[in-house]
Amino acid sequence: MSNAVENLPALRDVLQKHNLFAKKSLGQHFLLDLNLTDKIARLAAPHAVVVEVGPGPGGLTRSLLAAGAKHVIAIEKDERFIPALQDIVDAANGQLCVINADALRTDPGELTPIRPLRICANLPYNVGTKLLINWLTTAPIFWDRLVLMLQKEVAERVVAKPGDKAYGRLAVLAGSVASGHISFDIPASAFTPPPKVDSAVIVLDILAKNKRFADLKLLGQITASAFGQRRKMLRKSLKPFAKTHNIDLDTWLAKADIEPTARPETIDIAGFHRLARSLKAIDSA
Ligand code: SAM
Repeated sequence: MSNAVENLPALRDVLQKHNLFAKKSLGQHFLLDLNLTDKIARLAAPHAVVVEVGPGPGGLTRSLLAAGAKHVIAIEKDERFIPALQDIVDAANGQLCVINADALRTDPGELTPIRPLRICANLPYNVGTKLLINWLTTAPIFWDRLVLMLQKEVAERVVAKPGDKAYGRLAVLAGSVASGHISFDIPASAFTPPPKVDSAVIVLDILAKNKRFADLKLLGQITASAFGQRRKMLRKSLKPFAKTHNIDLDTWLAKADIEPTARPETIDIAGFHRLARSLKAIDSA
């Protein structure tokens, strides 16, 4: 990284200079402590091409460059931040490019042919789960690691195990393509302005290709039905889904070796894979 990035003004001064205040509607809670953003960036950056979502005033962006990212592509929806980010682009010797776009409508895999990519983001709370599900279910997978700051409660749902209160659709989808863990927590007080809840940084590493489940779209539909009524037995909650697919629910569950009286939170990830595979087998029979 060039000294020019290290010598950029403090983030508080950047906010002041560009008259940038946080907009609630865009989930804006900034991390202005570069020690903290450095800690996140070290999980993603060294030697990697990193896509950062929601750079805001650019604290994490600077840290990614400082931690040795080969290149950073940053996607920011709020155009007010583009001039402040341009100062980092100017200091970054061609290592940073900033795109003014909505990440919900941008496929990071189409921004560059380089593979694998990493995604690193302090995600806006209002769209964090949706973005994560997009990245998990978009095939072919273009990333080898996701380093994401999420609401702690959402992070716990991503890494939950069967039987945990937090176990649900997110854990099944994430566990079908990646292995994940919570790296560390960040208290609400670390942000400007502080959100109402604490956050956590999760790391998701892609599984080897032969260990990944291929049809995440179908798995997404099955888990949405199963966990949509999580207190109900599967013979109830999956009934409408079986009906739309015009298949016999008992045959389907038996083929997948799943007890009709089981509740979704007791079915492990492999069990959901069996449900998806046997549905396909019945469909194509
Ligand atoms: N990375 C900065 C930091 O750590 O201080 C800002 C994080 S703030 C929680 C979320 C950022 O995501 C904001 O800059 C916000 O404008 C941006 N954002 C919100 N929705 C977005 C979207 N759909 N696409 C791209 N950026 C978005």
